[in-house]
Amino acid sequence: MKLWAFVVAGLTLAGCAYGAPIVAQQVQPAPVNVERLMTDVRALSADEMEGRGFGQPGGDRARDYVVAAFEAAGLEPLASGWLKPFTARGTAGENVVGVVRGSVNPDQWIVVTAHYDHEGIQNGQIYNGADDNASGTAALIELARLLRDHPPRQSVMFVALDGEEAGLLGARAFVADSPVPLDRVVLNINLDMVARGDNGILWVVGTRLYPALIPVIEGLPQQPGIERRFGYDDPAVRGRNNWVNLSDQAAFHARGVPFVFFSVDDHGDYHQPSDDAERIDAAWYRGAVQTAWETLMAVDRMDNPQFRGSPVGVPATTKP
Ligand SMILES: [Zn+2]
Repeated sequence: MKLWAFVVAGLTLAGCAYGAPIVAQQVQPAPVNVERLMTDVRALSADEMEGRGFGQPGGDRARDYVVAAFEAAGLEPLASGWLKPFTARGTAGENVVGVVRGSVNPDQWIVVTAHYDHEGIQNGQIYNGADDNASGTAALIELARLLRDHPPRQSVMFVALDGEEAGLLGARAFVADSPVPLDRVVLNINLDMVARGDNGILWVVGTRLYPALIPVIEGLPQQPGIERRFGYDDPAVRGRNNWVNLSDQAAFHARGVPFVFFSVDDHGDYHQPSDDAERIDAAWYRGAVQTAWETLMAVDRMDNPQFRGSPVGVPATTKP
């Protein structure tokens, strides 16, 4: 108690010295570093990565890049190592997993995912996939770095997933053999295509299914040029206008793990060889990743994050 009073007095003196009013000290999340982000996006979407094809040498190079980046960011591997290998449709793939143990609730997990694979080389053309999904993979790496300076209260698992383009293969393999019990996973934050805000909109998908997330997202600070919108998660909508099953969060949702999925609208370079890093607006991309970071921090600050529940308009007994 005395020590605390002393610290407060110290703050007051320091504050007075600058003539500034004393306000409650709140830890400000570190800003996402756009230079690091763009360095990783350019590397992952470079021609040398040959489009990061599932089971292809370029995919292996991307995997190695992520392992090195996770290690440099200070993540820890699983006891079995950085890689969670799987075989699907006759192809061997590897998810890359790194963790940070929480200081308060180490058995409560937030799982952040992004797929690192893309379409590889087709008809002699390299599909670099800068937005899809070098952008999410680089974001994953950046969030891991930021956690080094902001140790989480809950445990955080970063998973760079393989085989997404072939049908969410890495994500399905991951949840089928999760390193932690899935009922200890409070939230999956999935990032897939987060760099191209051509229309300014960053879609926040999943709140219709897990509405307890809404106040968390609404409480996030605004980022310049980023318009956050809820949507693409209406259970009554089928096809391309329902994104719930179109990226890796689907595997988590199918097992009852709440998710929030950040993504942008399809653009002219979607699944084209022209999805290159040069077409990324770095400032917008930084804001999108900052939004993901603020989300991670907001959930981490909650004592008992509980997003499971009856989805709006869907009976609790309905299974996807
Ligand atoms: Zn994708």
